[in-house]
Amino acid sequence: MDAKHPPLMATHEVINQAHALENYNAYARNIPLQEAAAREGAGWAHDWLMARGAEVGSAEWIEHGRLANVNAPQLRLFDRYGNRRDEVEFHPSWHECLGWLKRHGCDTGPWAEPKKGAHVARAAAYVMFAEIEDGSLCPTTMTYGAVPVLKHVPEIARDWMPLLLSREYDRRFIPAAQKKGVLIGMGLTEKQGGSDVRANTTRAEQLSDGSWRIVGHKWFLSAPMCDAFLVTAQSPKGLSCFFVPRWTPDGRLNEIRIQRFKDKMGDRSNAGAEAEFWGSTGWLVGEEGRGIPTVLEMGVYTRLDCAIGSTGIMRAALSQAMHHTSLRAAFGKLLRQQPLMQNVLADMALEVEAATALSLRLARAFDAQEDEAESQLRRILTPLAKYWICKRCPTLVAEAMEVHGGNGYVEEGPMPRLFRQSPLNSIWEGSGNVMCLDVLRAMAKHPRSVEFLMAEIEPAFGKSAVFDRWVSWLKDELQDADAIESRARRLVQDLALALQGALLLRFAPDYVAQAFCATRLAGDWGYAFGTLPKNSDFESILKRAWPE
Ligand SMILES: Cc1cc2nc3c(=O)[nH]c(=O)nc-3n(C[C@H](O)[C@H](O)[C@H](O)COP(=O)(O)OP(=O)(O)OC[C@H]3O[C@@H](n4cnc5c(N)ncnc54)[C@H](O)[C@@H]3O)c2cc1C
Repeated sequence: MDAKHPPLMATHEVINQAHALENYNAYARNIPLQEAAAREGAGWAHDWLMARGAEVGSAEWIEHGRLANVNAPQLRLFDRYGNRRDEVEFHPSWHECLGWLKRHGCDTGPWAEPKKGAHVARAAAYVMFAEIEDGSLCPTTMTYGAVPVLKHVPEIARDWMPLLLSREYDRRFIPAAQKKGVLIGMGLTEKQGGSDVRANTTRAEQLSDGSWRIVGHKWFLSAPMCDAFLVTAQSPKGLSCFFVPRWTPDGRLNEIRIQRFKDKMGDRSNAGAEAEFWGSTGWLVGEEGRGIPTVLEMGVYTRLDCAIGSTGIMRAALSQAMHHTSLRAAFGKLLRQQPLMQNVLADMALEVEAATALSLRLARAFDAQEDEAESQLRRILTPLAKYWICKRCPTLVAEAMEVHGGNGYVEEGPMPRLFRQSPLNSIWEGSGNVMCLDVLRAMAKHPRSVEFLMAEIEPAFGKSAVFDRWVSWLKDELQDADAIESRARRLVQDLALALQGALLLRFAPDYVAQAFCATRLAGDWGYAFGTLPKNSDFESILKRAWPE
């Protein structure tokens, strides 16, 4: 035996370590999601969602999610002969993920096959995919939001709509006319202003053929391999929105130059670029000078997806925590059976169930847009749900990471990726403050939206004294117009909690709803997860959150 290099031998047997969570059905094990989907109008999609849940929980798809993230996209600015290409090279798993999302209509399914519950069914599938990969949801979502905007422009819709509604993902970097399916991105944010899009300095001038020439930069341009972008720029009548394809109709690469990639904290599977528009060719979308309402129409959908996506990230974190604690023992018991750990897990389960109920309720409002009450509700609920669900996400993911002990902090496991992804939905598509101010705007401009929101809350009256007190106090708060802007976060949080409480009181088992109200609405809520009152039915909450 070589004394310097002894044979590799184990000094010990590996015991009491969990194994990877895989080959489970992400839908079958998510009872709150199943119930919410059925309640909000997508009961017909049950079998379809079960099939998607089996895929998403399989080792194969979990591995695609991992590979797409550990193999970040590469920017290929030039070909080997020095010709400018501005191309992005992705790992095959990224393409697999986009293929899955497009095949199952997570981008434009509800537009391609409109029916009652279509947006809710899509939302449930989206929640599940967010559990395994999030970067690919970015172009998926932008494409979802672009359809209602482009529908208004017949000259663009004629050629592009069939490709947008197609279920085929076509990864090729070629003109759209030669492709089987397309994706859309958006360019709003510039160096000097993101939330305040009016600060854009990118300029657009109209050419004699009716097209526009766009010159300027975009500080964030996600998914730059998309086939076209909705881009804001200043035109003679003010800020306007333009449709800018990667290739011009005559088959030339449009003058969109990628400058560099962002080195992002998370969302690493997705490419995020800085770009310059060097006289790019574009076409006006919507009315000239009305760029903000035009892009906001897209923003309503992308904001819905932020709420749904964060619900999925939280569910993934909870599932990992439940799985881990069901296999790992300490001090003579499984962690899952330790009373204090039960409190932490149950508290997280309440949060995820409340987020699930709220995000799918919001998705239903997108299914019934012709209904006055639903469209008013959608107006106020979209920024409200985006704000609150996305705000809760990093806190919950951090707690779920800690549940794993040291393993939670190690890159081989899923928790660091979930953690890095967790704040993003709160930042883009309108950051937290901007969402809260938008709720105030909805209240001021559409007073009936508050009425319809209260109509969702009031049926829960009489089921919990704490809830009743909360809502009557909240009504007083809503009457108080003093310093409303500085109080916006508090007001939106309190409204969100009231609605989550109402949905749980109306539709969830009593042990879930009462524990939620006893903490979130009692006014003495503990600051960390794991502070449910001692009389909570921990075991029932946990069995519901993670059924055998
Ligand atoms: C990974 C990633 C990808 C992105 N992809 C895209 C993309 O594809 N296309 C695109 O156009 N943009 C994209 N963005 C940009 C994103 O939408 C902006 O970063 C976001 O809208 C905030 O704008 P900002 O960065 O300019 O921050 P600012 O607008 O400077 O905001 C900074 C802070 O101030 C707050 N704030 C702003 N106004 C007010 C106010 N009136 N009162 C109180 N607080 C206020 C905001 O809530 C925020 O917290 C991306 C961002 C990230 C991180």
